[in-house]
Amino acid sequence: IVEARGVKKRFGRLEVLKGITMDVRRGEVAVLIGPSGSGKSTFLRCINHLERINGGTLRVRGHLVGYRERDGKLHELRESEIAQQRRGIGMVFQRFNLFPHMTVLENLCEAPIHVAGVRPAQARATALDLLERVGLPDKVNAYPGKLSGGQQQRVAIARALAMNPELMLFDEPTSALDPELVGDVLEVMKQLAEDGMTMVVVTHEMGFAREVGDYLAFMDGGVIVEEGRPADVLGNPQEPRTQAFLSKVL
Ligand code: ATP
Ligand code: MG
Repeated sequence: IVEARGVKKRFGRLEVLKGITMDVRRGEVAVLIGPSGSGKSTFLRCINHLERINGGTLRVRGHLVGYRERDGKLHELRESEIAQQRRGIGMVFQRFNLFPHMTVLENLCEAPIHVAGVRPAQARATALDLLERVGLPDKVNAYPGKLSGGQQQRVAIARALAMNPELMLFDEPTSALDPELVGDVLEVMKQLAEDGMTMVVVTHEMGFAREVGDYLAFMDGGVIVEEGRPADVLGNPQEPRTQAFLSKVL
């Protein structure tokens, strides 16, 4: 469902991704780890069609990111076409970016009704189901400001799921949370993985990576330094850079 071949991304003269090759198959959980500035968020943003790549090829759900192939040539996509492709992908960020002036229910119904054209009664029923799934059925009429960070993040996950995505991207979803709130969010993500969702997760939660991940990549300086099964990479890292990083975070 994600097929990256030598993906490159530059910001001006700074090459942030220097050739990333990675496959994520349907139903898999891929975990990305690595030091600050290694390009993890940039790669997620490429997968979500938020950045256009400068080299290599990146296919997500069968679509080339940022381009269309016609007559053997690549043509840049228009913004509206890019937005269309982004709709099958859910993304959850470090900072819960819920709409503060809307209740939890309104947050969950906004995009389904106004972007996807779902009927309000249907959107509401789906939203209630999702709140049940993330363990917050009693918060349906609360405003985000009245919720803990962990609760807000679980609402953010439910809101992304409300668009019925085929792929979920998580960019350090628990790193802004107080330690005692991390577990509930990871539990929701684990459940989602068990239900078969395809996920790409940037995280420093090595326990989660090991338990839930099918694949793990250690990125540094815009390249994948080491990859494989999480237990292998974390338990027996081969590259000095991976060893040095893990000795700091484990
Ligand atoms: P962190 O762990 O701190 O979140 P990261 O691995 O997610 O780091 P990125 O956010 O992908 O790293 O950033 C990689 C590099 O790209 C950094 O040097 C950053 O300054 C640079 N960068 C990211 N986005 C932009 C942008 N829009 N314009 C210019 N430079 C950028
Ligand atoms: Mg980042």
